[in-house]
Amino acid sequence: MGVFIPKKLFGIIGYPLGHSLSPLLHNWGFSQCGLEAVYMAWPVEPEKVTDFMKGFGSLPISGVSVTIPHKLSVREYINHETGRAKAAGAVNTLFWDGDQIVGDNTDVAGCSEPLRPYLDQIESALVIGAGGAARAAICGLKELGVKKIAISNRSSEKARDLAAEFKISSIDWDNRAVHGYDLIINSTPLGMSGDKESINPMIMDKIGVNTIVYDLVYNPLETVLLKEAKKKGATTISGLEMFLHQGLEQFRIWTGHDLDPDKARKLLLEKLT
Ligand code: NAP
Repeated sequence: MGVFIPKKLFGIIGYPLGHSLSPLLHNWGFSQCGLEAVYMAWPVEPEKVTDFMKGFGSLPISGVSVTIPHKLSVREYINHETGRAKAAGAVNTLFWDGDQIVGDNTDVAGCSEPLRPYLDQIESALVIGAGGAARAAICGLKELGVKKIAISNRSSEKARDLAAEFKISSIDWDNRAVHGYDLIINSTPLGMSGDKESINPMIMDKIGVNTIVYDLVYNPLETVLLKEAKKKGATTISGLEMFLHQGLEQFRIWTGHDLDPDKARKLLLEKLT
């Protein structure tokens, strides 16, 4: 029996990494495209990121996905940042351009891509939360040309800072349900499996059949926010869509190949359900 020796090595760094779906998606992608490559999970503690980045510069690693808590810290070890990464203020993808390490951000496209079918229904959007995912969401909404974007966050100062940076409006946390929006995006961990699973980040009064509710949390697939929104007749989008599209964009950057989103979604759903 022959031994499989991959020609290219990729992986994800984060800490803790938990049960990342990225190895499944990318290794499946390599086999779909007949590429002799392998993608691994590398749990890298925050204080080890310098060592890892030195290794990335000297070992034959072709590309890296970057997740929490390294999306900001890797920026000091790269040679270039794409416009998307600069706008989002974070890097989730590393690749080589000749001998230069480039940092990109596919969370922006990952967040905006699932909204494309609904563009003619979205004039106003509220982003809940003001962390890294919120930044990607705001950049994505701006790229899509959404005119009125507001942000609301538990720590109101962070919402105000982000609003000033992106020239959008901020809404006090207690008033987040006072106005109606065409689109609500949850970018907090509220609703995530574990001790936050039963917490709905939104007050549902203004949500109805014309609202689109997009939860960036994808574990569980149907969060309490999405369940409540469905009851109100709203259109719902799961965070799995963001995960899927940010991963497909990474794969495209690294390999030049487009994977079939429907097949990739099926693969991920089989793993999650
Ligand atoms: P982050 O930078 O840590 O930001 C978390 C945000 O959530 C902060 O604004 C924080 O508010 C808020 N928050 C945390 N706990 C809260 C609570 N108990 N009540 C109210 N607000 C709370 O995290 P992130 O990187 O933006 O990620 C946020 C979530 O997005 C993740 O948990 C993940 O589920 C999801 N996500 C999904 C994808 C995907 O591919 N689908 C990708 C990235 C992230 P304060 O400022 O007040 O602390």
